Amino acid sequence: MLGGVTPTQQDTGTRQDTGTQQDTDTQRESGSERDPGAELAALARAAHRLVRGARLLGRPPGRRPAPAALPERGARPAADPSGARPAPAPSVAAPSAASPGPAAPPTAPDAPRRPAPASAPSAAPSPPPGRPQSLPADFTSPALEVAKAATTLDELETSVAQCRACGLCATRTRTVFGDGAKGAKVLFVGEGPGAEEDRTGTPFVGPAGQLLTDIITKGMGLDRAKDAYIANVVKCRPPGNRDPQPLEKATCAPFLERQIELVDPQVIVPLGRHAANHLLGTQTTMGRLRGRVVRRDGRAIVPTFHPAYLLRTPARKRDCWADIQLAMAELGLEPPASRAAGGGDPSGGGSGAGTDG
Ligand code: SF4
Repeated sequence: MLGGVTPTQQDTGTRQDTGTQQDTDTQRESGSERDPGAELAALARAAHRLVRGARLLGRPPGRRPAPAALPERGARPAADPSGARPAPAPSVAAPSAASPGPAAPPTAPDAPRRPAPASAPSAAPSPPPGRPQSLPADFTSPALEVAKAATTLDELETSVAQCRACGLCATRTRTVFGDGAKGAKVLFVGEGPGAEEDRTGTPFVGPAGQLLTDIITKGMGLDRAKDAYIANVVKCRPPGNRDPQPLEKATCAPFLERQIELVDPQVIVPLGRHAANHLLGTQTTMGRLRGRVVRRDGRAIVPTFHPAYLLRTPARKRDCWADIQLAMAELGLEPPASRAAGGGDPSGGGSGAGTDG
């Protein structure tokens, strides 16, 4: 009976439990001197208890491998991170949570994802205010694809009206796309809208616009609405009537280029230094640009002074008139002296509106 109870107590008991049983066994041992069998049984139980008790105390040298085996399970994972492996372990776990794939692929997808944001900043140049903006060598206008997609002048005008590709959109009242006839044989190009153009949406209105109209009608003998087309390099007014900056001109350039393709003029007359340099890809003075014909893409480019400059500097009207006659020759128009009405020198040399100075 006792042999059956004692092991159960030893399995679940403490050191005190073991000591109490030893006292009881000692009393039994003293009575077992009369019975060798009982004495041997008591000795066997005592030995058994000693072994169990020692095991509970962690003494048995032969059992140490067992407790050491438990840490080994944890030690294998721990043995790897003991060096440099703790880091790879979590990194593999993170991608595996995002994607069910194995540990190796996560490093590969990371590589292609990084170039994408890198390309993003190059597509969106923000024009800094203040000083003239420098133009990146690899600049591509964000308006390029939109402009190329337009198949008619009306479509292109709609795209321009919605454009916010450069900083000029922030201060414009309305875009100033162009004015004139589709298929006009002569295209006049100014640098940008002024205050009146910004208000009305029509290029070359006011005194400068009136002088240009005189050049077209009285000088060249053409109808401004039917025979000519008028546009600007930039479609939004630079604030304070300042010059359009290089980045603004380059950003807006695809609209003018597409406009030229759709109007398809024989002759282009840039009005002023900015428009002439833009269309000819130069950076020089008006004195060097005017007085000659430059052929490009099958068209004749004939730079001359801006009408606003002529209003301020009437002495240059004769030079302008000389340039206009070059353009007329390209168009096959008769010189004013040959016309029955008696010409139309807007510079003051004839009977036209140019007599206003
Ligand atoms: S100036 Fe040209 S590019 Fe700039 S917002 Fe106006 S239409 Fe767009």
